[in-house]
Amino acid sequence: MALSRQLDKRHIIFINRMFPMKIREEKVSRYSVIFGVGGNVGDVRRRLNHLWIYLSRLSQIQRVQTGVILKNPPFGYTKQADFFNTVIEISTSLQPRALLRLVWRIEKHFGRVRSFPNAPRTLDLDILFFDNRRIHYPELTIPHPHWSSRASVKIPLRSMNRTFRRQYENFNV
Ligand code: AMP
Repeated sequence: MALSRQLDKRHIIFINRMFPMKIREEKVSRYSVIFGVGGNVGDVRRRLNHLWIYLSRLSQIQRVQTGVILKNPPFGYTKQADFFNTVIEISTSLQPRALLRLVWRIEKHFGRVRSFPNAPRTLDLDILFFDNRRIHYPELTIPHPHWSSRASVKIPLRSMNRTFRRQYENFNV
């Protein structure tokens, strides 16, 4: 069963069994990482549930918590369906670039095809934060450049457990 709350004309929050939730597990790795996740093709909310289950099977990461799901309008290329976005916290001992390679594999598993920037997508997975590190590689920028201007990130982030909030508040937004 899912609950929903309309925030305004084009933003709706959805809550279900897996979003938001917090895992109580003993094993925690070195780094805390926040993923931003979203899509606008097919049944995205169902896919997000599948993603959360899929992540439990990956030995390189441990699941920590999820936020609420936000339905919100597309930006950039606007003649496409609304997006469903959420955030997921994991812990890992992978270094950032190795984690990015894993992210690419996960996107591929969920059928992501790259066509043009801001195109419709089955599943987009961004690394929003990696502990409180700032990272600038050619293929990877952390914190993710646009996170602080997007409701699709900020609203789900706010719904997550408080202890994490201290981490991104370091970035002075
Ligand atoms: P997009 O089409 O928006 O998903 O962009 C994907 C590309 O952005 C990836 O191939 C990455 O090389 C690059 N990228 C840069 N910073 C990040 C980040 N923090 N998380 C994920 N991808 C990133």
